[in-house]
Amino acid sequence: MRLEATVKRLKSLMQAFDTFYKGTADVLICAPGRINIIGGHTDYNEGFVLPMAIDLNIMFAVRARNDGLVDFFSLNLHDSAHFYLERVELRSTPQWAQYVQGVAWALMRAGYQIGGLEGVIHSTVPVGAGLSSSAALEVAAAWAWNVLYNLHIPREEIARIAQRAEVEFVGVPCGIMDQFTVAVAKRGHVIRLDCRDLSYSLHPFGREVRFVACDTNVRRTLASSEYAVRREQCNEAVERLSSALPHIRALRDVTLEDLERHRHLLSDVLYRRARHVITENERVLKAVHALSRKDFVALGRLLNESHRSLREDYEVSSPELDTMWQAANEVDGCYGARLTGAGFGGNVIALVHRDALRSFLTYVSRRYREQTGRIATLRPVRPEEGVATV
Ligand code: ADP
Ligand code: MG
Repeated sequence: MRLEATVKRLKSLMQAFDTFYKGTADVLICAPGRINIIGGHTDYNEGFVLPMAIDLNIMFAVRARNDGLVDFFSLNLHDSAHFYLERVELRSTPQWAQYVQGVAWALMRAGYQIGGLEGVIHSTVPVGAGLSSSAALEVAAAWAWNVLYNLHIPREEIARIAQRAEVEFVGVPCGIMDQFTVAVAKRGHVIRLDCRDLSYSLHPFGREVRFVACDTNVRRTLASSEYAVRREQCNEAVERLSSALPHIRALRDVTLEDLERHRHLLSDVLYRRARHVITENERVLKAVHALSRKDFVALGRLLNESHRSLREDYEVSSPELDTMWQAANEVDGCYGARLTGAGFGGNVIALVHRDALRSFLTYVSRRYREQTGRIATLRPVRPEEGVATV
């Protein structure tokens, strides 16, 4: 079934390429989405995260052009866009295309010699759902130029370029986690990433459990404004705490004891924001440990603690996310769950024993519909390879 679906997808991608650009593509790029198992809002606090790439992805069929035109079509949006490399800084393309244009801009600014390309995009990563369709798109684009123009860019550098595109060109102040995961992930593994220095390690993820991405099908309307507010609050907490703790650079450097001792320096809101980040960093490290022992009960408990902390201290959950989280936890064989991504909508991820998968899917979709009147989309996911040329 999965194979059939992939073959069908490839055929329509190739057909679309022929329709728009005549002939065949030079290469086919595949860039995955991701879930973050634990470590919510820790990345921009220079902390730890534990993401994995998933088997939902963006495919980009591309061919080099010998002029400076970049022309591409999104089958998901039924929309095309183009720009000229010599005027790359002109934001003349539609919003969605700026993720691609931003990559060209960041590559050129970093001194890479790139030429034009044309291509067709198709994605199975839901858009705006916290599974990082944006990083998949950016990294797919960066990889396309990397391959078509023999740039030999290291994967970590691809991640940095993709992030720069999103932050400085598109204007979304995101951390590095998403792009890094899409660029360096390995099949069957999760990534423990230190967002301060980008050091990382890969940890095998067994087959006895599955993560299920449970889409509330509510898109995060508040996300971008509230995200900026949270970042600002974290900065302010660091600034205030540093009057007593001059060595700190980020919330990453603050211990829970430090925080309690100097609580009087912070408002209640800033205290709770900081407490989330500090305890969440600890949970990531504990989660890596639990995973290495295959202690899924402990891992599930950490996921639930993370969700509560995001809901109460960081205040980035939503009624639908909480309903989904509750429903997931009602299933025997579900070890725990948490919202993933920035919050306010999008997906909850649940850790489910393989044997309980069927009953999980039936129960959670029914329960979510009863309680919200909405249809959930439940997608069991596996740890996948990072960006690759197929
Ligand atoms: P997320 O990364 O959680 O999916 P974002 O808001 O960060 O959400 O990124 C979503 C944006 O990325 C979309 O609004 C669109 O601009 C762009 N995008 C993602 N996938 C596609 C696609 N297949 N075709 C066109 N644009 C896409
Ligand atoms: Mg994104």
